[in-house]
Amino acid sequence: MDDKWVVYISKAEIAQAVETLAAAIDHEYAGRSLVVVAVLKGAFIFVADLIRQMQTSVARVELLRLASYGAGTTSSGQVEVLVDLPPGAVTDQHVLLVEDIVDTGRSTTVAMKLLQEQHPASVKLCSLLDKPSRRVVPVVIDYLGISIEDKFVIGYGLDWDERYRDLPDIYVVEGGD
Ligand code: 5GP
Ligand code: MG
Repeated sequence: MDDKWVVYISKAEIAQAVETLAAAIDHEYAGRSLVVVAVLKGAFIFVADLIRQMQTSVARVELLRLASYGAGTTSSGQVEVLVDLPPGAVTDQHVLLVEDIVDTGRSTTVAMKLLQEQHPASVKLCSLLDKPSRRVVPVVIDYLGISIEDKFVIGYGLDWDERYRDLPDIYVVEGGD
């Protein structure tokens, strides 16, 4: 890895955020079970940590794969559905949609629409990160980990042209935007 990347959110801070989110979700869903829907690829590490931290019973995990960024560091504006939900997977279920980061809000909006088409009992959104200054489409984040500035971050599931998802901390380019 190039040394221009600096730690922006440490793995300890991430773990703390995951713990806080899990506690808030457990508080809300006490006595109920949830279908957890993670948006791939970015959320795969976060969702794995989150569901292991939660006490709430997880009826099933579903994975939705969307693509928006291409190889660059700014969103293309087009959201492609690469892997859709199985039919009826969330019908009448309480759903927790799990995102790595909400940036323009386009991906989340597409994911919400795919969920709503199956008429779930309820849907709430949990995102590890939020870049509110970049929002194009309004999105309500029910459970937010950490709000960040308009910087391109990598690590903990987040890629740069498919690399660096494996890093345990979240990094940003020093001095970059
Ligand atoms: P949105 O549709 O909200 O613009 O973007 C959603 C997706 O873009 C995220 O799920 C994530 O995969 C990607 N993305 C947005 N901001 C960043 C970032 O700072 N770093 C990386 N690696 N991906 C990002
Ligand atoms: Mg990406």
